[in-house]
Amino acid sequence: MNHKELSELIYPSLPHTCAEYEEIYPERNLPEGAMVTRLGPSPTGFIHLGNLYGAFVDERLAHQSGGVFFLRIEDTDDKRYVENAVETIISSLEFFGISFDEGATLNGDVGSYGDYTQSKRGDIYQAFAKKLLAENKAYPCFLTEDEINEIREKQEAEKLTPGIYVGWSKYRDWDKDEALAAEVESRIKGGEPFVIRLKSSGMPNVSAEDSLRHNVTDAVRGELSMPANFQDIVIIKQTGIPTYHFAHVVDDHLMRTTHVVRGEEWLPSLPIHVELFDYLGWELPIYCHTAQLMKIGEDGNKRKLSKRKDPELSLDFYRSEGYHPKAVREYLLTVLNSNYEEWRIENPEEQAENFKFTTEKMSASGALFDLDKLNDVSKNTLLHIEAAELAAWLKSWSDEFAPEFAYVFKDITHLAEILDLGRHDARPRADLVYARQIMDFISYFFDESFEIEDEYPAEAAADAGDIIKRYLDSYNHSDDNEQWFSKIRDIATELGYAAKPKDYKKNPDDYKGHVGHVSTVIRIALMGRAQSPDVWAIQQIMGEDKVRERLQRHSF
Ligand code: GLU
Repeated sequence: MNHKELSELIYPSLPHTCAEYEEIYPERNLPEGAMVTRLGPSPTGFIHLGNLYGAFVDERLAHQSGGVFFLRIEDTDDKRYVENAVETIISSLEFFGISFDEGATLNGDVGSYGDYTQSKRGDIYQAFAKKLLAENKAYPCFLTEDEINEIREKQEAEKLTPGIYVGWSKYRDWDKDEALAAEVESRIKGGEPFVIRLKSSGMPNVSAEDSLRHNVTDAVRGELSMPANFQDIVIIKQTGIPTYHFAHVVDDHLMRTTHVVRGEEWLPSLPIHVELFDYLGWELPIYCHTAQLMKIGEDGNKRKLSKRKDPELSLDFYRSEGYHPKAVREYLLTVLNSNYEEWRIENPEEQAENFKFTTEKMSASGALFDLDKLNDVSKNTLLHIEAAELAAWLKSWSDEFAPEFAYVFKDITHLAEILDLGRHDARPRADLVYARQIMDFISYFFDESFEIEDEYPAEAAADAGDIIKRYLDSYNHSDDNEQWFSKIRDIATELGYAAKPKDYKKNPDDYKGHVGHVSTVIRIALMGRAQSPDVWAIQQIMGEDKVRERLQRHSF
């Protein structure tokens, strides 16, 4: 049995040859410099900020260059598969404005480089595994788990690198021993389980300086020099399913990916991928290994975001809290590119899409994620969204995540007025951050959620009933802001409060308090809280009836 015969024995009938696949998936006809990127999430049911972070990079690179961005579902690890996970991936990314040109969609595949789901590409991987077998670049390996454990123990005892590589699997050299060749043949014919391993040409157990090295230019990290791989990694598992390493190489070649954006956790396996591309005679794509998302932990040190400890790692968190997708996008861009914030200050009104994103400006060490910063960015982003649009968006959020706030949306025009409060002032108020916070922030407008939250200021508490009664008696809904305030000032002076805070500060013994204390009583009676946007403006939006009704709730 020669190598070709072995490959035929293992894969006797495949629908296409490798050469045919090259024709089925030809080079893309794209303009010079157009980038082809892909997102390859595994359907684990957990879609996280890291996925979105990477997806932004992919999306920007492809769409800025007139290229193609596609979605490939990487479901070769069946243990991790979760029902409906693909739907979750697609809908979450769509929510954050990530649009694909090609790939898996909820209505099947779009594009001519599919299937876009790895589990449906078995024949393709097998064709290329067959080629490697025929060229003596791969071999079937029958080592059992127990045998592999024994090998590991031996290697540990001898202080050697663990793994299966030259010298450790006898099957690697089946072609040098007739009896072994016969054994391999009969075991395959007998249907015994085996994996297919890469026959690596790297040298094991030599010092880093002596080992063969690869130089790879990473678009984020620059020039990398790495010791070559020497592990005979599994390319096809016992089940016939490829490993990530093999599937990624075959897919990214055939789908004509130019830029592979992925997390830095893949950096250590890059030498394997370089060897695979080399064995298959293909050009290496440009790798962009993105930095891990980090946060400042409770102890003040940087640490990786963790699924268990940090709810903000899950994209569901942003959706259910009601962060506007534009805000999350805007924030991620500030984390992604160090010059984004500066650009934004210079171009406050521009669409984020007009910023020229580059991989060189990405941080190669940890990208720091900070919820407070996101909140700040969000405040600003929301200021640039029309109130009516914001109201409609909040409604769709409530319909999906928080139906308990349905009463807020009974009159959507009224809601838009509420949201617009103070947003057109010379120094606009930026109080709106995310949907759940907004529901709380505007809760006093609605009887369903109105509550007295704060206490009257001590200086005016004893006079509260009197203040509210006088206010109600003198209330004229058509007063302008100035007339309105002069009435409050009058009430203050009549009851022995200073008309100006500074008078009270100068001579505190002459007054009970100042006008601010009096107006705070009114604010609390109307809004239930000591802090709020301009009371006069709020009253105009609340309407006269509600203002009077709120004031009448108090016993005098
Ligand atoms: N399926 C891999 C993951 O979910 C993707 C890695 C890649 O983009 O190549 O981590």
